[in-house]
Amino acid sequence: MSFLSLEVSHYLRHLLLAGLTAFAVPESMKIFCELHLKETVRAARAPRRARGKGGVKAGGCGEAEAAEEGLQGAVKKHQTHQASDGKGPLGRSSKAAPKTAGLSTALNYRGQVETGIITSGKATRVVEIYNEDETECITIGASGCLGRRAQRAKGTPPSSSRSRLGQTRLFAVAGQLDSRARAEVPGSTRTPEVREIVSSFTKIDADKIQLISKVGVFPVKQRLSDEVASKVVAIGVKSFNRPHQKYDHSVVVIGAGLGGMQTMIGLMQSGRKDIVCLERLSSFGGHSWLVVSNKYTKLQTESGNYHVDFGFPDEPATNEVEGDLYKTWPTRDQLLKMFRDAARKHNLGPVTKFNTNVEKVRPLPDGNGYAIYTTPYGQEDGEGELVVASAVLAWPGNLCNHREIEWPGEDDFDGYIAYASFSKVDYRQAEGKVCILYGHGAFTIENVRTLCEHKCKKVIVMCRKRNLCGMRVMSWLVGYLEMPLPGNILLEGMQKMYDLVGFDCWSAHCVKTDDKRSFAHVSQKTAFGVTDVYFLAGYYGLMEVLVDEIKRLTTNGAQTKKGKKIKCEVILKAVGVMPDPAIDKMLGLKELVGLWVNGDPLRSVCCNGMFVEAQNFGSFASGPPFAQLARVTRWFVDYPTDFETIRGTLPKLTGSPEKPAYVPTATHMLPTFSCFNLIPMLAAEMAVYGALKHTKQMARHPPKQYIAECRAEWEAYIRQWKKDGMIDDSKPEPPYPYTETMVQGWIDRTNMEWMQKAARQQQRLAQA
Ligand SMILES: Cc1cc2nc3c(=O)[nH]c(=O)nc-3n(C[C@H](O)[C@H](O)[C@H](O)COP(=O)(O)OP(=O)(O)OC[C@H]3O[C@@H](n4cnc5c(N)ncnc54)[C@H](O)[C@@H]3O)c2cc1C
Repeated sequence: MSFLSLEVSHYLRHLLLAGLTAFAVPESMKIFCELHLKETVRAARAPRRARGKGGVKAGGCGEAEAAEEGLQGAVKKHQTHQASDGKGPLGRSSKAAPKTAGLSTALNYRGQVETGIITSGKATRVVEIYNEDETECITIGASGCLGRRAQRAKGTPPSSSRSRLGQTRLFAVAGQLDSRARAEVPGSTRTPEVREIVSSFTKIDADKIQLISKVGVFPVKQRLSDEVASKVVAIGVKSFNRPHQKYDHSVVVIGAGLGGMQTMIGLMQSGRKDIVCLERLSSFGGHSWLVVSNKYTKLQTESGNYHVDFGFPDEPATNEVEGDLYKTWPTRDQLLKMFRDAARKHNLGPVTKFNTNVEKVRPLPDGNGYAIYTTPYGQEDGEGELVVASAVLAWPGNLCNHREIEWPGEDDFDGYIAYASFSKVDYRQAEGKVCILYGHGAFTIENVRTLCEHKCKKVIVMCRKRNLCGMRVMSWLVGYLEMPLPGNILLEGMQKMYDLVGFDCWSAHCVKTDDKRSFAHVSQKTAFGVTDVYFLAGYYGLMEVLVDEIKRLTTNGAQTKKGKKIKCEVILKAVGVMPDPAIDKMLGLKELVGLWVNGDPLRSVCCNGMFVEAQNFGSFASGPPFAQLARVTRWFVDYPTDFETIRGTLPKLTGSPEKPAYVPTATHMLPTFSCFNLIPMLAAEMAVYGALKHTKQMARHPPKQYIAECRAEWEAYIRQWKKDGMIDDSKPEPPYPYTETMVQGWIDRTNMEWMQKAARQQQRLAQA
C-alpha cells in the first residue's frame, strides 16, 4: 500500500536535497549534511562495484548475494587496512583501529570512497577527522580542486554509458549532490568551516577545537586561512559521540506493531537499558496485522522494505522467518512470524507488557516524567498499574475502527452482506456469485484478489470516486530508487496496467498535471493499494469499476443513485478503517507540534497518514518512513535540547472527533520533515535511508528476479482462472505489461531528471 506519510517524507527529502528549503541554516551546517549524504551514496555504491569485479551477472540471486558481499567486503577491506596499518594519520600508533562515529554504513566505507564524481567542473575530496587520541574518525567531503577522476568524468552524462539495471543511478545522484555541495561552498574548504562542522556534531565550542595535520613527520597546526588537509586531528575533541541524555525512569513505547518495534530496537541499539513497551494485544505485530487483516491478506508492497530490521544498516534484509522463506508478498501469518522472529532476535519480549491498555498519559506534577495509567485489556474495571516514564514514544496505529455504513433495505436483501475488514467475511459465500465491493481504498484492492481467489463470478467495485492504485512493479521501483520517482514517470508506468482496463489514469480525479504531462501531482484520501490482480481481473471482465453509490438494497441486489439496478448475491462494505479519536485523549494531546504531543520532545506520536499527497514518490511501503520516524523521535530522547532548534518552526495541528490530531495530514508532515534539516547530523542520518532502502530492496528483490516473479504470478492466475472455469480462451492472454528494459528506462529518466533539476538549481545559485 502506499502510505502518505512516507510519500510526504520522501517528497520532502527531495525538496531538502534540491535546496528548496526556506529555513535559514548556517552554511557550514548545510555542507555537513550534504557531505554526509554523499558518503552514504558512496556506501551504497559498494554492492555494484563488487558485482562488477566479481563478474556476477545482473539479476538473479547471485546479484543479491554479491550486493551483500560487496558492502561487507568494503567494510572488511577498510578494517583490514586499519588493522594492518595500526597508525593514525600522524603516524602515531593507535591502540585499536579508529572506530567510526555516527553513520556506520557511510563512514565504514570511507576507505573506498571514489573522489571527484561530478558532471561538470569542480570535484570534491574527502577529509578524515580524527579525535584527540585517534581512536575515532569521521569523514566528510570537502570542496577542493579537480581530481584526476573528476577530470575524466567532467561533462560525461552519467547515465548514458550504462545499460544494466541500476548501474547509472548513483552516478547521477552523486553528481547532483556534489554539484549541490559545490554550490554551498564557493571556494575551497578552510579550517574554520571544518571546525564549525565538528562543533555542530559534537556540540563542543568551535573555538575550543584546533585542527592539526602532518607535514613530513611533524604535526602542524592548521591556520584559519588554510585549506583543510585531507587528514586532520581535532585537538579538543575527546570523542565524536555526544553523550545521550540519562533519565530517572523508563522510556516507554506504546504499541508493539511495526512502528513500536522499530523504535524499541533503536532504543536498545543506542544503549538504553530501561525500556518498557505497553501493548494492548497479546502478541507482536500490531492491530493492523493481528486484527484488521484476515488469513488471506498478503503484504501488497515487497517484503524487502517491510521488516522490523529495515532501519538498521547493519541488519541484513530479512530472508527467513521461523525457518521459512520470508516471501516477496508474505501472508498475514508469515508477517506475524516475522514480527515474532524479530522480537526474539532483539529480545523485545522481556521488556513488553502485553494485554496492557494505556488509559492515559499525563505529566508528573514535578515535571520530571509522566504517569501512565494502565488497565488489563478487556477488563476495564480490572486492577490497573501505574507506570512512571521519563519519555513516552507512542505508535498507536491509525487503522482502528471500520467506518460504518447502512443502506435502506438491508433487511430485505436475500444475499450475504459483511464488512470487508476485521476478518468478518466468510469468503466461501462468494463462490460463483456476483459481488458488489463497496469502496475503492487499499483494502478494496486486497478484496478483489481474495474474491477472485474464491472463484467469485464477478466483482463490481462501486465507489464515489475512482482512486488510483499502484501495481507491483511501480511499488518495487519507488522502493528501489534512491531518489524519489517523479509523478509523471510513475503515471506513465501505471498507464501500462491501466491500458488493460481501458482507463486513462491521467484523467483520474486525484491527478493534477499540465498539457505536456510534464509533472503529476496525486492527491487522494486513501493510500495506494498495490495490486496486479485487480488489472488482470479487469481485463478478463471478472472485475469492473462503477462510479456510483448504492441508494437502497432490494431482495436480489442494489439500486444505485444513478438509477441502475444491479443484481448481486454478495455485498462487501470496504468503506475504510478509521483512526480512533480516543487516542488523542489518552495521550492528553491538545496540539500536535510536529510529531510531538503539545510540543514536548519527550512525548512523540507517530503513525501512517491516511492519504496520498505527492508529486515525487519515495516508497509505497511503511518500512522506510517508519524507520525515519523512529530515528527522529529517538533523537530527541537522546538530545532533548536539540528540540529548541526546531520548536519555533514546527507546524501545529489540532484535532477534532472526526480527525484526531495524532494522525498527520500532508500539510502537517511536509513542514515537519523540513525542520529536521536544521539539525545537521539528524538530517545526515535521515539521508541515509534512501541508500538503505535501495540496498535492502536490491538485496532481496534484484530487478530481473522481481519482474520474473511478478510475471510468473500473473501467468499462474491466468492458468488457475482457466482451470476453475472463470475465464475462457475468447480473449488473448495479456503478456505481463512490464519488462526490464522499460524499468531501466524509468530508472535512467528519474536520474536524469534529478540531475537536470540540480543543474538548474546550481545555475540559479550561480546567477544569484
Ligand atoms: C490489511 C492491511 C494490509 C496492509 N498492507 C500493507 C502493505 O502491504 N504495506 C505496508 O507498508 N503497509 C501495509 N499496511 C499498513 C500497516 O498498518 C502498517 O504497515 C503498519 O503495520 C502499522 O504499524 P503501526 O505500528 O503504526 O500500527 P499498528 O499495527 O496498528 O500497531 C499499533 C499498536 O498499538 C497498540 N495500541 C494502540 N493504543 C493502545 C493503548 N491505548 N494501549 C496499549 N496499546 C495500544 C495497538 O494494540 C496496536 O497493536 C496494511 C495494513 C492493513 C490493516
